[in-house]
Amino acid sequence: MTRRRVSIFGATGSIGQSTLDLIGRDPDRFEVVALTGGRNVELLAKDARALGAEIAVTAYEDCHGALKAALAGSGVEVAAGPAALLEAADRPADWIMSAIVGAAGLAPGLRALAHGSTLALANKESLVTAGPLLMAAAAEHGARVLPVDSEHSAVFQALVGEDIGAVERVIITASGGPFRDWPFGRMAEATLEQALNHPNWAMGQRITIDSASLFNKAMEIIETKEFFGLSPDQVEVLVHPESLVHAIVGFRDGGLMAHLGPADMRHAIGYALNWPERRHLPVERLNLSKIGQLRFEAPDEKRFPALRLAREVMLAGGLAGAVFTAAKERALDAFIAGEIGFTDMAQVVEDVLTKMSSEPGLDAASITLDNVAQTDHLARLCAGDAIKTLRTKA
Ligand code: NDP
Repeated sequence: MTRRRVSIFGATGSIGQSTLDLIGRDPDRFEVVALTGGRNVELLAKDARALGAEIAVTAYEDCHGALKAALAGSGVEVAAGPAALLEAADRPADWIMSAIVGAAGLAPGLRALAHGSTLALANKESLVTAGPLLMAAAAEHGARVLPVDSEHSAVFQALVGEDIGAVERVIITASGGPFRDWPFGRMAEATLEQALNHPNWAMGQRITIDSASLFNKAMEIIETKEFFGLSPDQVEVLVHPESLVHAIVGFRDGGLMAHLGPADMRHAIGYALNWPERRHLPVERLNLSKIGQLRFEAPDEKRFPALRLAREVMLAGGLAGAVFTAAKERALDAFIAGEIGFTDMAQVVEDVLTKMSSEPGLDAASITLDNVAQTDHLARLCAGDAIKTLRTKA
């Protein structure tokens, strides 16, 4: 049996590690081409050695020496920097995991699609900032994009054998995060530690905070629209504290198809890794009689304005998603650094969207890698100003 050649971008992160866990359990099926990481060179080197990767790449030039030293004598090639990440995406591979966090994930994903590789997409920022560009690249090169986010994997699975034209609506669920029941005033005072205390999922730091603010869900609404080619009003959010129903597809005959699974990303990762086969996965089997009840409630867009902002971004189209992502990233950095409060993050994003909505060139025709990068830069500067203003007022 020929082994499938796989590369993992963002191998040292939460999704990357879960992917390597699955690959490592089945060494006869997979040949590891490239593993990439950021500053965690020890972990990157350890995994590259253990899995016999062809090449290990750190995104940071200043980590090159440390990675080289950690892989001395291993036979694994070593490279560093953004250009090296793109070169790693040029290496022939059947399947590539896109699990870099943030806007930095877009360019390597596009490069992989240009070679016709299957792209397992965890990096939601790619679709939010440049969904039309990414999906057009896949279509142009006959490459497939498989969703890894649990909600989108759930929709994808519920749609097997169905006609997308028969879909009336798609409902993605949100746990509601640690502040689901908190009044706004208490949320405004929330600490980083409290925001990191997710009730159901173990994830990277940034997505965990985004889950608490529902910015994660806001990005997922946009992701759903882009991935499945839906209109903004076809995508709904339902708060579901148990996080076991990940998404529900509503068809025009009134039927609903729900997907349930454990709150373990290895389910969605494994589905994408083995697609179109379903293979055994080492995840918990749900015992619904033990779970007893599943709750659903409407989200409160007053306390969680990120959801309203996502709708505005979808209606604006074009580069509004790039503005949204960059402003959110900058606001998140400021919250992590203790510069602004938890609820200030949405205020910053709203201020930036309002300010930049009058910029020329935010139209749909101008979504290119260069324009996305330029918009990202401008939106971060604008967010920096909004953060300064908020701090002066405080
Ligand atoms: P983590 O923060 O755990 O990992 C991020 C990875 O990206 C690490 O390998 C990190 O390297 C690397 N990285 C960081 N900055 C850069 C950069 N500038 N250039 C290149 N590589 C970089 O994130 P997650 O695994 O949680 O999430 C990854 C993506 O998947 C995100 O887009 C997230 O929204 C999405 N996602 C995550 C889910 C989850 O359960 N975690 C669920 C669904 C989607 P290092 O750590 O070595 O510095």
